[in-house]
Amino acid sequence: MNASVPFRVGFGTDRHRLGNGVALQLGGVAIPADVAAIGHSDADALLHAITDALLGALALPDIGQMFSDQDPANRGRDSAEFLSAAYDKIRADGWAIANLDAVVHLQRPKLAPHLEAIRQRLAGLLAIEPQQIGLKAKTGEGLDAVGLGQAVDVHCVALLYRNT
Ligand code: MG
Repeated sequence: MNASVPFRVGFGTDRHRLGNGVALQLGGVAIPADVAAIGHSDADALLHAITDALLGALALPDIGQMFSDQDPANRGRDSAEFLSAAYDKIRADGWAIANLDAVVHLQRPKLAPHLEAIRQRLAGLLAIEPQQIGLKAKTGEGLDAVGLGQAVDVHCVALLYRNT
């Protein structure tokens, strides 16, 4: 590997089971819904996928290794804290985000009315412009776990550039 190349790409995915609830936590936004994601932390699949994309870009250990689901300290934890910790590592090593592009697979609730609020929230968490964040939502077309409303699935790529 040529470590002097000034760009790095990362890829992160996450899936969480859905259960009964009153809000779905996604991208740091609580979306009113009749479902909630189930997990050890606040189960924010979008923040987890972004965190893994950032870590993966620098070939760092993934979110599960950084923040064990066996650790009681991570129970119910705000996933924005995971993202911030990963981002701090990236920046401390001299890297910045060029852009992110994420796809959320979710049967319901419909995300279209919430995408802009999520982008704004992500931009705030990462101190970048909303124009640097691509965010799309797709349904599961009634097929498999996503389509049956049993899961939320997120894929995210991140491009980093050397900043120092
Ligand atoms: Mg997760």
